[in-house]
Amino acid sequence: MSVKVMMPSSDKKEIVDLCAQVRGLLQDFEHLGINEVFIQDPPHDLPRCPIGARPSGDEKMACRPETLEEIAAELHNCQRCSLSKRRRNVVFGVGDPKAQLVFVGEGPGREEDEKGEPFVGEAGRLLDRILFAMGLRRDQVYICNVVKCRPPGNRDPLPEEIEHCEPYLRRQLAAINPRVIVALGRFAVQTLLRDSAPISRLRGHWREYEGIALMPTFHPAFLLRNPAMKREVWEDMKQVLHRLRELRG
Ligand code: SF4
Repeated sequence: MSVKVMMPSSDKKEIVDLCAQVRGLLQDFEHLGINEVFIQDPPHDLPRCPIGARPSGDEKMACRPETLEEIAAELHNCQRCSLSKRRRNVVFGVGDPKAQLVFVGEGPGREEDEKGEPFVGEAGRLLDRILFAMGLRRDQVYICNVVKCRPPGNRDPLPEEIEHCEPYLRRQLAAINPRVIVALGRFAVQTLLRDSAPISRLRGHWREYEGIALMPTFHPAFLLRNPAMKREVWEDMKQVLHRLRELRG
């Protein structure tokens, strides 16, 4: 019997459980003379799962995760915090909506604000070089920030701005459901991990965000000011590549 399977990315245990169920089902089908089966993503007309939820098990049959397009549409005219007043563009995120690897930075700078795309300035070009060294392209990963509008003068985002914007990030990550997250810099790490330890202590050590492996590392903008730290980031990225290979089995 030939089987063509298209299913959303999921964690390893979930896939193993699902495979066991599918195997039993296929054996039943085979007895009925059915020799080809197509398994597809949940139909789009299922109701949306609760906001930010990652459906698992039976829930996958009852609801579908919200899509990045749906979240972006909501964000389009967001006025939740004062960063809305001076932005040119909301910088939502770019890349593969089903990426296995997501990079989360801090917030848009001037060029990002102008173009509406994250990591397109000097720090972005460095991130591209890091991706290239990992054998990856931008469109094979997903890239976004903690806050989606530019803090004036590229200042740090304020706690209340992060608090207002963070739910969008959590929803993005739930919609993508990656295998690995790389948190770039202090704000991404502290926001996702709720850990105020210095990034210099956290980087290079695996953590977990909502069951997803998370690697804290330095922000590319920091590397531009401290090029000697590139070696550490490369060590962290080697761990990320190794983990992705492991998870793919
Ligand atoms: S930074 Fe986030 S919360 Fe604030 S206005 Fe922009 S999208 Fe809305």
